[in-house]
Amino acid sequence: MTEGYTLNRPTGLACPECGGVMSSEHIGTLLQFRCHIGHVLTAETMLAAQFTMVETKIAACLASLSERAELCRQMSETAAAQGQDAASYDAARQEALDRAKVIKELLESEWLATGRDYAKDVKGWAPPT
Ligand SMILES: [Zn+2]
Repeated sequence: MTEGYTLNRPTGLACPECGGVMSSEHIGTLLQFRCHIGHVLTAETMLAAQFTMVETKIAACLASLSERAELCRQMSETAAAQGQDAASYDAARQEALDRAKVIKELLESEWLATGRDYAKDVKGWAPPT
């Protein structure tokens, strides 16, 4: 477990298309980002793509926690069937479910318009219902 995460200012932004490092540039009043292999996104498009990427990664966390809970359930049943103590698996399952609940609430909470609405308008993305 990592202790004491920090939220320092990122030194760069990752390209939502390829994960490469992006540089920013101003073209008149337009702010845009360009990665080292040529993807170019306006700030608004970048915001939408980044929002979609964040939601996808958070949803992946929810899926992983749900799968962990299921694995712990199966291991608990197996241990119990063999007459072994299953308490640690039951506790780990509950821990995964508790953490999944936090992630689920995060996914279902509203974002500022600069996230969800941009994603919907620019990329045709719609939040899951
Ligand atoms: Zn790229």
